[in-house]
Amino acid sequence: MTRTTTRTTPADVFYNRADDTLKTLADSGQLKNLQMIEGPMDATITLRDYGEVACFCSNNYLGLSNHPDVRAAGIEAIEKYGAGTASVRFICGTFTPHETLEKTIAKFLGVEAAYTFVSCWNASEAIFPTLCEPGDIIISDELNHACIIDSMRLTTVIKKGVHKAVYKHSDMNDLRAKLQAAQNNEDVTGAVWVVTDGVFSMEGDIAHLKDMRALCDEFGALLVVDDSHGTGVMGKTGKGTHEFLGLAGKDVDFFTGTLGKALGGGAGGYIAGRKQGVELVVQRGRPTLFSNALPVTVACSANTAIEILMNEPQRVQKLRDNVAYARKGFREIGFKVLESPTAICPIIVGDTAKAIAMSNKLLKMGVFVIGFGFPVVPEGTARLRVQISAAHEREHLDQLIDALRKLKTLEA
Ligand SMILES: *Cc1c(COP(=O)(O)O)cnc(C)c1O
Repeated sequence: MTRTTTRTTPADVFYNRADDTLKTLADSGQLKNLQMIEGPMDATITLRDYGEVACFCSNNYLGLSNHPDVRAAGIEAIEKYGAGTASVRFICGTFTPHETLEKTIAKFLGVEAAYTFVSCWNASEAIFPTLCEPGDIIISDELNHACIIDSMRLTTVIKKGVHKAVYKHSDMNDLRAKLQAAQNNEDVTGAVWVVTDGVFSMEGDIAHLKDMRALCDEFGALLVVDDSHGTGVMGKTGKGTHEFLGLAGKDVDFFTGTLGKALGGGAGGYIAGRKQGVELVVQRGRPTLFSNALPVTVACSANTAIEILMNEPQRVQKLRDNVAYARKGFREIGFKVLESPTAICPIIVGDTAKAIAMSNKLLKMGVFVIGFGFPVVPEGTARLRVQISAAHEREHLDQLIDALRKLKTLEA
């Protein structure tokens, strides 16, 4: 029997669809090109096709990812513990460095307890599906990180009867309206959760945590803050957005955060806050029960990174000075930068293809800045997202400002 070659199988449906999507992206200049880095992440990095370039698109805000002590901690850990336990935490997968790291995180943030995951994405995926029950409602900022959005979606699937609501970005009147609606909704019989990014990753602006705490108190709601871009960056000692706004760690019910940005840049995430919540996640979180722990090398490096931050708050000051210098430079050459006190400086250019083209031109000038467009940000608001680090010296910042000035002249 001969097989007909013209029949379209269900598998072909997928392959044809994937080819079409990729072609559409390529034709419209939206295809992402992954750069290969040949050495450590630092103020400058070596890219396979471009050589040494100044890096302005990493989340290495404190310059700790290549710090000699952070490196040494990872090397010592692999010598002492090997690659891992080949087990989830509750069976035989917890090393003493996990306990040490979790105590360090809790101490640093000034909260009761912390528990780590292989990523903040996983921490997000653990928190709401585990802590929420039918009758609860989660109220979320419309610009919250994708991991929060997906965690809410997952929660409503796993626990049918959990409600959700979304308020306009940082709009406290709308948050109040959503809290009021929840209070009036007789299907909302359980806990009310309000969740926000501390620092919003695409805008670089911050949540009004003080007002949010007051609203949560008024309505008896819990406040959850994902401060992945704020930890190590915001506040006098780098504790985060809450510190910047004059709040203490205990003013936030639960934090989620990452170890993959300012705190060493390796990988990993955590839930930190009130002990009942953390303990429930240990007992019942699905990412906790069914997925391996953070590699111990990474746990030890992250622990050292947090200790360095606690001992050297001047790193946070240097980052702040660098941000002020860079923002002033962008303004002087006439770029429209969104205002904010954070280390994220988005330069809005509008069109996705234009943002990518500008980013490519900068790279040829030895400056690595990423252009973001749809679907990462809304259509028409594509941007160059410049990220400043304490690793940068004035020469790197000047190199960036000079390259942007040249780009402006080329365009004119
Ligand atoms: C970067 C980021 C994450 C993801 O962190 P990972 O540890 O890389 O999973 C989660 N939430 C926010 C707000 C982030 O900015």
